[in-house]
Amino acid sequence: MADDLYGDRLLVIDDEPAFGQIVQKVAEASGFEVVVTRDPSVFMHAARQWHPSVIILDLKMPGTDGVQLLRTLAADNCPAHVVLTSGADGKVLESAIQLGRERGLNMSQALPKPMRVESLQERLAAFKQAWKPLLSADLEAALAADQLFLEYQPKLDCRLGRITGAEALVRWRHPTRGIIRPNQFIALAEETGLIHGVTDWVVATAAAQAVRWGADKLGLEVTVAVNFSASDLVDLDLPDRLEQHCRNAGSDPAFLTLELTETGAMREAVQMMDVLTRLRLKGFKLSIDDFGTGYSSLVQLQRMPFSEIKVDLSFVTQMMSNVGCRVIVEIIIDLARKLGLKSVAEGVEGDAALQSLIEMGCDTAQGYYISRPIAAELMPEFVGNYEAAWGKTAA
Ligand code: C2E
Ligand code: CA
Ligand code: CA
Repeated sequence: MADDLYGDRLLVIDDEPAFGQIVQKVAEASGFEVVVTRDPSVFMHAARQWHPSVIILDLKMPGTDGVQLLRTLAADNCPAHVVLTSGADGKVLESAIQLGRERGLNMSQALPKPMRVESLQERLAAFKQAWKPLLSADLEAALAADQLFLEYQPKLDCRLGRITGAEALVRWRHPTRGIIRPNQFIALAEETGLIHGVTDWVVATAAAQAVRWGADKLGLEVTVAVNFSASDLVDLDLPDRLEQHCRNAGSDPAFLTLELTETGAMREAVQMMDVLTRLRLKGFKLSIDDFGTGYSSLVQLQRMPFSEIKVDLSFVTQMMSNVGCRVIVEIIIDLARKLGLKSVAEGVEGDAALQSLIEMGCDTAQGYYISRPIAAELMPEFVGNYEAAWGKTAA
């Protein structure tokens, strides 16, 4: 589902009331809606539910760890511009910015304290400018100018202890806005029909990448998963086109898993069955993504020719702290086994969750604990290192 994004919402966390008041006054005068707090739980709630476009975060607050907040924002894939403030010296700010960036946050230059009102005004004006809504023309241009790229998140075979697959996740390198996450443009692509172009590009690129990894000196054999949308299924030519992309890349559909979300958005159930069945006949594997939430229901599972169930990340990230989530994960893995389907758990963020999934008999695990999504070139080295490390712990 698309994140609701607003170009003019500012969230501030700072323990100095006077600072908060000044920022609020300046930002409101610049046309922003503003929430100021000193409470980390209010802050995180607003970051998740209110969808700010800009966050100003004080790194140094008594009783609160600013770096911890950065980590939580990153785990949520928060798309906002993040501006750090602090009386701390420039070196500390720089390394916190670097850390945020490495975790995938959209980090901006810091605002040192004491702050100049003019520099805050300038920064806010620039953010506002940059958050004009994305238009279909922008996305069309991005496709033509090769601004899309893929990152790959490694998938661990729980039995073998080896990386045997990766999920391709699309990103948009925008000339002025920086890296744009898929949650910010896939819905636009679906509404405008540009999704067909995006899916074609993703499948062709991922198939070519799988071939390159295979030919690699390391003889890396990983299967690649790509995401596609329910709105791709309105197109009866999809199976032939995707097969052709694989063949052109010198690959075979058997190396690709297609992950489908939001199947309920598709009204034409018969047509959907037609397309999915032909994809399976051509040898593609089909995965039902985000299982357990939204439209990914038991009905879909029973009707459609899926080969894999992907347990929704919201259950997996909470399974060690919430018994209900743990039970749901266990039942879905069991369900997959009984239906003769593969199970994949995504959102594995710690060792305890991984060990627990292995005990439950889950086939494949994916998540930040194993690896964040990485550039294709880093994959061979990652796989090699992972196997070496696993060998040591297993020995
Ligand atoms: P998804 O298919 O459910 O992908 C998983 C998302 O969770 C990814 O976000 C990934 O970076 C993130 N993630 C991975 N491991 C962890 C973890 O341990 N903890 C947490 N909290 N998050 C984790 P991303 O890359 O921002 O993708 C968001 C969504 O955009 C995807 O959700 C998928 O539905 C969609 N998407 C991505 N690429 C494509 C594409 O090529 N085509 C289409 N149609 N949709 C895409
Ligand atoms: Ca997916
Ligand atoms: Ca998912």
